[in-house]
Amino acid sequence: MTGPKPAVFLDRDGVLNSLVLNPASGRMESPLTPNDLYLLEGVIPALRRLQQAGYPLLLVSNQPNYALGKSTLDTLGEIHSKLTTELLFGGIHFTRFYYCLHHPKGVVAGYSGLCVCRKPSPWFLLRARDDFGYSLPDSWMIGDQPTDAQSGRAAGVRTIRVGSGPLAVYPDARARADYSVGNLGEAAEIILTHRA
Ligand SMILES: [Mg+2]
Ligand SMILES: [Zn+2]
Repeated sequence: MTGPKPAVFLDRDGVLNSLVLNPASGRMESPLTPNDLYLLEGVIPALRRLQQAGYPLLLVSNQPNYALGKSTLDTLGEIHSKLTTELLFGGIHFTRFYYCLHHPKGVVAGYSGLCVCRKPSPWFLLRARDDFGYSLPDSWMIGDQPTDAQSGRAAGVRTIRVGSGPLAVYPDARARADYSVGNLGEAAEIILTHRA
């Protein structure tokens, strides 16, 4: 491939690994312990197809639980290690893992208030373009939340929503993904179909 390369940016929770029930909130949330992190079915084969097609893989994830006082940095690190171990077992290499650890309503000094990097900000996608020279118009953002699509659109990449939940109607067009599919395997199929 000559010229700037495309990349695939991926959200983490709800895309690579399943959300888990947080008994405290009664909601499906990010894993709170490494033991709660399970890759979703079909994730490794889907990532392998993208990797074999030459797409660099980059994670872009908001992880505000430390800022919110719900987790420690050590635990967030252990959850990340579990993820990288599982990916490694599957033969998957990520070029970079970008995490925003901030939250606008956080309670921990230094991690609370507005930041530049929390999705829907396109910050990490633009940074990856600058760091690695990716061609953003040929790149993709895959996520399960409106903020993932917003982040991708703001960066000028194509966007895919994954998730089997009911398709919400977002009044803000910027929160609507270009494609909506059930799982990462179907997202990979779309990307490979569009490959030049
Ligand atoms: Mg998510
Ligand atoms: Zn941030």
